[in-house]
Amino acid sequence: MRDVNIFLKGFRRFQHHYFDRNPELFDRLFAEGQQPRALMVACCDSRCDPGVLTDSKPGDLFVVRNVANLVPPYIHATSYAGTTSAIAFAICNLKVEHVIVMGHARCGGIRALMENRPPACDEERLIAKWLGIAEDVRQRVMKELPGKLQEVQARACEQAAILKSLENLMSYPWIGSRVNEGRLALHGWYFDMECGALMQYDSDAGEFRVTELHPDHPEESLRPQRLFENWESSPP
Ligand SMILES: [Zn+2]
Repeated sequence: MRDVNIFLKGFRRFQHHYFDRNPELFDRLFAEGQQPRALMVACCDSRCDPGVLTDSKPGDLFVVRNVANLVPPYIHATSYAGTTSAIAFAICNLKVEHVIVMGHARCGGIRALMENRPPACDEERLIAKWLGIAEDVRQRVMKELPGKLQEVQARACEQAAILKSLENLMSYPWIGSRVNEGRLALHGWYFDMECGALMQYDSDAGEFRVTELHPDHPEESLRPQRLFENWESSPP
């Protein structure tokens, strides 16, 4: 078993190189509390740390992480609502002005959803139940991209599941009203870790588009993949 000393050493580096050198920041956060600019719903995946990817400071970003960065629809928000209670706190108490749902390439949760294997044990049932939030996305991908490479289907599902979560966010009355009044903005982001690019959903174009380029990769190789044909008709 690998030990956790590497993290303790990392914390020591944080103390010396960050905490001790930013007394004003931490004094203010301690005295005044947090006022994060945005809420990010991200995947648990250890390769997609929102703070690292956005180079944020403490206090900037309120983060909720779960398997496959899914937001359940309003109707399912009643029991053990870990994700939705955190979303409610960020929006209603902290009054964040942006919600970003950030998916990513090679998402294990989305791969499991696409495999669609019957769960064989308790823990698989737990995960399958959660991933069921995006079951209609899986069905749509299989219907609209039949016979495509698994890689292509998975990528489409990863991106379409982000839109599904944005759609589900709008089903919460206290989110929908804020969005319609212009007090809250929703964003869909996709981290393509293969080339180190961040893509944003462009609702006018109906596709995710690269917003940041890795300097070592030509723009040509990062041309965004179009989502399946009829997605444009769906919100957001
Ligand atoms: Zn993931």
